[in-house]
Amino acid sequence: MPRVPPPPPVEVVVAEEQQYLFATTGTALQEQWWASAACQDAEPDVFFPVSAHDQISRRVALSFCGGCAVRDECLRVALEDRSLIGIWGGTDEAQRARLRERQLVAS
Ligand code: SF4
Repeated sequence: MPRVPPPPPVEVVVAEEQQYLFATTGTALQEQWWASAACQDAEPDVFFPVSAHDQISRRVALSFCGGCAVRDECLRVALEDRSLIGIWGGTDEAQRARLRERQLVAS
């Protein structure tokens, strides 16, 4: 039986996502709305709670989103890109999956 390599540690996945978010050029994050993001200077770690039990990071991230002027744009990007993990537009992955399901039902 062939051996299946183990998945990368969560820390590696989170680091890659942060790199995508904050260092990649030519993504939706280069759009003009991103310049008004409330989380521009926030600690990136809080937007990537490593588990559903990481409620402290989650609350901190959501406190930024709650007062963010570009929340709708942020959520739109996250709904369009299923590969995004973490808190976007005041939602986590599970919430966005439910929103996509509702959009499918409504269309
Ligand atoms: S909605 Fe939240 S994650 Fe999106 S830009 Fe605003 S503060 Fe950042």
